[in-house]
Amino acid sequence: MMIRVFMSALGLVGVASSSAFAQSRPEDTEVWAPKPAFVAPAAASGPPSDAIVLFDGQGLDQWVSSADKSPAAWTVADGVITVDKSKGNIETKRAFQDYQLHLEWRIPADIDGSGQGRGNSGVFLASTGPRDAGYEVQILDSFENQTYVNGQAASVYKQHPPLANASRKPGEWQAYDIVWRAPRFTAAGILASPATVTVLHNGVLVQDNAVLAGETVYIGRPAYRPHGAAPIKLQAHGDPSKPISFRNIWVRELPPRP
Ligand code: MG
Repeated sequence: MMIRVFMSALGLVGVASSSAFAQSRPEDTEVWAPKPAFVAPAAASGPPSDAIVLFDGQGLDQWVSSADKSPAAWTVADGVITVDKSKGNIETKRAFQDYQLHLEWRIPADIDGSGQGRGNSGVFLASTGPRDAGYEVQILDSFENQTYVNGQAASVYKQHPPLANASRKPGEWQAYDIVWRAPRFTAAGILASPATVTVLHNGVLVQDNAVLAGETVYIGRPAYRPHGAAPIKLQAHGDPSKPISFRNIWVRELPPRP
């Protein structure tokens, strides 16, 4: 009886599609190769088997100063990086194109300040210059701290507010899991495809394949400038509030979209 009802529903769809069903087999739409690579997920917390570890608690050997590429000089203690605002931004030695990034960050329990001046940092998904050039996903205390929504934690700064506020209290570790698709440019430097980003904040989807209008700017409208693979950069924001910390940072490079 159920089958008959289903078949009559198919009949409503049209003769052409039902004859297509008759001529094909289920195997015709099975894809067996190439097989996705096996990746062993982390046992508890930590990077999966194919990740490039950017910080495992030991040192900043994967990082340099954005200003002059000298060794990164933020503070490392007890398995945690703490921002040294006097030393400026730091960025990865390696350049990346498309990737999946995991990083954990913590606003100090005794954070001070308000608005954009309360635990401000950020992750620039492609650093295109030494200072704040690039594409910033904001880091900020947004637990009970008001600011413009396209500048709160997990926003694509000044472009996309987060879909939800998944912030934890100051003093607690928070996680970003980010999928970044870099913009592509023609040989003539014309934008061929814009950057997109998906972000989970503490496991909550906050950016859903958001399309970027260009690089982050503080004043004015975002715009693209051609670039290739680029470092991942962490921000030493100039506000006077207490510095934030990072731990457990890893990245998985992704092949270009088909
Ligand atoms: Mg920031």
